[in-house]
Amino acid sequence: MSAACSTVSSEPKTRKKAWPLSSTSVRPIGRASKMARVAFIGLGNMGSGMAANLAKAGHDVRAFDLSAEALERAKKAGCLPVGSTAAAVEKAEAVVTMLPAGKHVRDVYENHILGKAPATAILMDCSTIDVATAREVIADAQAKGYKMVDAPVSGGIAAAEAGTLTFMAGGTEEAFKRAELFLDVMGKAVIHAGGPGAGQAAKICNNMLLGASMIATCETFVLAQKLGLDPQTFFDIASQASGQCWSMTSYCPVPDVGPETPADRDYEGGFAAALMLKDLRLAMEAARSVDSYTPMGSHAEELYTRFAEKLGGSGKDFSGIIKMIDDSWQGEGSVPPPPPGVQLKD
Ligand code: NAD
Repeated sequence: MSAACSTVSSEPKTRKKAWPLSSTSVRPIGRASKMARVAFIGLGNMGSGMAANLAKAGHDVRAFDLSAEALERAKKAGCLPVGSTAAAVEKAEAVVTMLPAGKHVRDVYENHILGKAPATAILMDCSTIDVATAREVIADAQAKGYKMVDAPVSGGIAAAEAGTLTFMAGGTEEAFKRAELFLDVMGKAVIHAGGPGAGQAAKICNNMLLGASMIATCETFVLAQKLGLDPQTFFDIASQASGQCWSMTSYCPVPDVGPETPADRDYEGGFAAALMLKDLRLAMEAARSVDSYTPMGSHAEELYTRFAEKLGGSGKDFSGIIKMIDDSWQGEGSVPPPPPGVQLKD
């Protein structure tokens, strides 16, 4: 792997980098000695915490969202709410977007950012979107003279608020180096994954692995219990044996087993099944585009479709799929358990 593809920055949170700016845009604020004007578009569950951390670090954050409530939250967090994306990106030195999906990212960049933000601004899209759209938007930005990275995140709402996200960024070395100064403020690790779109590719590959390994963990614990094993005893054995994986040791789907997880809160909070399904669909779309055989990813997508969309589990943490596997799901759209030996079908 080339050095460009393995750059990792994980400085302690006390050593924030100052942004070197022209004298017109530099002014002392609180403990930060320098600041940049940063446009932040998309102040939802994730974006609100991320924008707050940029403001806390001393940056002049001009924030925009379609929701008035989100703008009010941003104001309380030290950002300056503005009335449009165009107003946010005016004179911006950096632009961060955190939007729901590819269609929003394409619309916001093509109609409201490119040609409106100064061409010297570094553009960072942190949303999780499809690889093809990420590459197209970056190509459009580059054609207009901008430097841009796709920089999706790993970590949920709590990590966004705490500034401990992991960013995986795609773009040129130069774009990455400029983006890293801002991403560092919002994360515990910033990794250069490769060229444009590589951040999205890394994100969906990671989440395809996570989705499939969570289902494997769930069905394994259900089987272990049906075979008479105590779940904690099986956890102790498997976490020291070759079946060990993150979905089990750090995020065990069985209540009261392993470290505290959403399973201990009836699968509330955490990473919603709807978002896991979104990422699995993006992974399958990407797999089809390069003719890659992904049987486990494809089956994980089917099972999360059933749990999130047909059985109403979309708002539950993704580990809640164990309740569909052991037939104890009581949520909206729940179905009676099948007779012994009968497999449930869609
Ligand atoms: P969200 O729906 O809470 O926030 C998205 C925000 O974008 C909303 O406030 C919406 O009003 C705003 N928005 C939509 N279109 C807009 C436009 N044209 N202009 C301005 N604002 C606009 O979503 P989220 O949970 O914050 O997730 C954001 C992204 O991060 C998604 O791509 C998601 O897949 C990804 N992600 C989420 C999590 C998570 O745990 N929530 C974790 C990792 C990655």
